[in-house]
Amino acid sequence: MRNTHDISQDLSTPTAPDGFLLGHLAEETRRRALTERAPLATTTGADPDLLAALRDAVDELGPTLLEASHDLSAHPEVSFEEHRSAAALADVVEAHDIEVVREAHGLPTALRAEVGDPSGPTIAVMSEYDALPGIGHGCGHNVIATAGLGAFLALAAVRDRLPGRVVWLGTPAEEGGGGKEIMAAHGALDGVEAALMVHPFTYDIADPLFLGRRQLRATFTGVTSHASAQPFMGRNALDAVNLMYTGVGLHRQQMPATDRVHGVVTAGGDRPNVIPEHAEMLFYLRSEHPESLAVLSDRIADIARGAALMTGCGVELSWDESPPYLPVRGNAALAAAWSTRYGERGRRVLSPDVVPRMFAGSTDFGNVSYRVPGVHAMVKITDEDLSLHTREFADAAVGEEADRVVLDSAWAMAAVSADWLSDPALRQAAVDDFEAAGGAVDVPSYFGQETAR
Ligand SMILES: [Zn+2]
Ligand SMILES: [Zn+2]
Repeated sequence: MRNTHDISQDLSTPTAPDGFLLGHLAEETRRRALTERAPLATTTGADPDLLAALRDAVDELGPTLLEASHDLSAHPEVSFEEHRSAAALADVVEAHDIEVVREAHGLPTALRAEVGDPSGPTIAVMSEYDALPGIGHGCGHNVIATAGLGAFLALAAVRDRLPGRVVWLGTPAEEGGGGKEIMAAHGALDGVEAALMVHPFTYDIADPLFLGRRQLRATFTGVTSHASAQPFMGRNALDAVNLMYTGVGLHRQQMPATDRVHGVVTAGGDRPNVIPEHAEMLFYLRSEHPESLAVLSDRIADIARGAALMTGCGVELSWDESPPYLPVRGNAALAAAWSTRYGERGRRVLSPDVVPRMFAGSTDFGNVSYRVPGVHAMVKITDEDLSLHTREFADAAVGEEADRVVLDSAWAMAAVSADWLSDPALRQAAVDDFEAAGGAVDVPSYFGQETAR
């Protein structure tokens, strides 16, 4: 395919996007990855004997974790339907004589288990296990699930020596639905003071950029009439959609580079000879800060109202039919602890600026990270420049490198948890960083309404 049309030829196929920029950014990323390193921990962490016991526990768990990872990958289930996946993970935990709460915190496919001393500090380790329609575990959540499981079971193996409590949360519906927000609204994070998880990727990064995300459904109501005989008696809802889409497009020039807005028309009329009385669009809005996401929301809402005014249609705005995702707030102290422990497995954790900021998505861990200090580390499972959400990435997530990452991540999350439970200086540094970034936010009402189901 060419990247421009030859107008003397058939125009029935699209032109090909030029790959120059992707290649250029990949080259820049590779160059930065050679030199830029994440900072390491300056705090002491856990007792070496405890860490040695965790190392042995992870080694022993290895075959169980990899079997579970491949099993989840072979039986992918989408958001809110992860019944088999949740049961498989719960069964493994119960096989280690640990009680599991199934259907935990308001969701049929959520899980919770805990070990250690509830009178001490409490840290949570999270496992996602939802897949994508049509492409299975193209986001590699089988790696997330089993790395979290491994960290929890390793910590459970030394539970009598833990100076605090570890909560394991099986969190459904990250790809759509905001499972962590729903669980948090049902008490999953009550008493929890820090949270950890990993996500597979093509680079090892402790503190990556994730944008906040909201959804807006704009429903325009017009007046139907005969499009030829009495058009003057109509109000055209499709015109309103057209003007909103155009207004959003024009607004893009004024948006900061890290804001995103993308929409589709979900209803636009039925027949040309009837002036459409019902038309509807669904937009996703994304931004790097909760504050800037609120600003973007106001602008897009005004554009919708403007479209209604211009066409004489009615408009109804429905925000966040599933919970909005806040951006991920990094935590320097926990990220440094992560980089140190993950580095002990021969990993080179990169600074967050290695990957171009334009390659950012969103995750419901953002909502966790505005409640408690947290780390959402990206872990490198493939050398290829593969994109998340592809079949190729699903294959990579059960490859040899991904298997090694499951065990390395299980170790690192277990070790950081032990560090955090053992070391008041690390806990204080994490809190200081969290408070300096603005402290805990009332997430469900952040955008002015209750949003968790
Ligand atoms: Zn994903
Ligand atoms: Zn994912």
